[in-house]
Amino acid sequence: MKKEVGLYVHVPFCVKKCVYCDFASFAGREQDEEAYVDAVLREAEKRSGIEAVISTLFIGGGTPSVLPPALMDRLLSGIRQRFSFLPGAECSCECNPGTVTEEFLAVLRKRGVNRLSFGAQAAQPRLLSLLGRIHTWAQVRESVDMAKRAGFENINLDLMLGLPTQTLEDLRQTLDEALALSPAHLSCYGLIVEEETEMFRRVERGEWILPDEDTEREMYECCRETLFRRGFEQYEISNFSLPGFACRHNMDCWKRKEYIGLGSAACGFLDNIRYRNPPLLTDYLAGKPAEETVISPEEARFESMMLGLRMTKGISGRDFLAAHGVTIGEAYGRQLERPLRQGLIEWKDGCLRLTRRGMDVQNSVLVELL
Ligand code: SF4
Repeated sequence: MKKEVGLYVHVPFCVKKCVYCDFASFAGREQDEEAYVDAVLREAEKRSGIEAVISTLFIGGGTPSVLPPALMDRLLSGIRQRFSFLPGAECSCECNPGTVTEEFLAVLRKRGVNRLSFGAQAAQPRLLSLLGRIHTWAQVRESVDMAKRAGFENINLDLMLGLPTQTLEDLRQTLDEALALSPAHLSCYGLIVEEETEMFRRVERGEWILPDEDTEREMYECCRETLFRRGFEQYEISNFSLPGFACRHNMDCWKRKEYIGLGSAACGFLDNIRYRNPPLLTDYLAGKPAEETVISPEEARFESMMLGLRMTKGISGRDFLAAHGVTIGEAYGRQLERPLRQGLIEWKDGCLRLTRRGMDVQNSVLVELL
């Protein structure tokens, strides 16, 4: 029987670079889009030799929705020709409000995409402009309406918290506006100020002040309480869904299942090897090979902990034993003592998981394990 793997396809093009973004994405490179799709399909051809069937597809970026519909059609049909998909495979595509068209959405539907993820971020014009986003909230609404008319039911909205000048009231309003669009899934990400971004420089210079830790914690609680009241379940630190709508692709990554990555900066994980394609577009287009790293047994165990602790259910003790041949206790018994005693982690239903308090200090729990 063929093994099931995920497939990630990176589309690195954006209309404009957002001020907080350190992803491998580029603005003003429209002239490379066609050559890029050809390069991805060449890579797909090369990687399609493995005995596997695709259980989930995720087209991320960048902004995949900036590709002209005909080019997205060529990309998706080329991928479908080269890989076999499980019936009912979850197929997601990231989109930015203001860039989707009916024609683009029709192409996604025709090629089996059944889940959309929109970068909505915040409902306030002042925050959208501060972030350097290209869209308004009215365009978020229009894009979601258009997606629903095109037949999409499984829709995610990405929201951000902890932004400079953002208040708890701003966040409440954003959650209300987002919920009014009836999404099946919401990702609520705390801002991480990455070095080498415009946001980092402005914060360093003191031009933008970030909310303090208490306010940020209150914002996170506000997301949890609001979404629980509206029937959402939290399945990962930042991710909430209506029952049955958790993102399978992400869940599989956190469970350390194998996946193929295609495109510049894309990562893959197959046969205990992690690979990363060149992050620069020019290097990828020039055919520079991926960097490969063989994962040692110790690294593999740590990866399972690091990824598994992100999920609210935690890491299944049984799955850990099956994957690594030792129990979590045998691998980490001593390092677990302190976080268990401090109430940062706990055992529940055969799984080791972060407690609510542990979620706030996830990094220090991982440092303890290292
Ligand atoms: S749209 Fe997304 S990938 Fe593109 S610059 Fe903004 S945050 Fe980065």
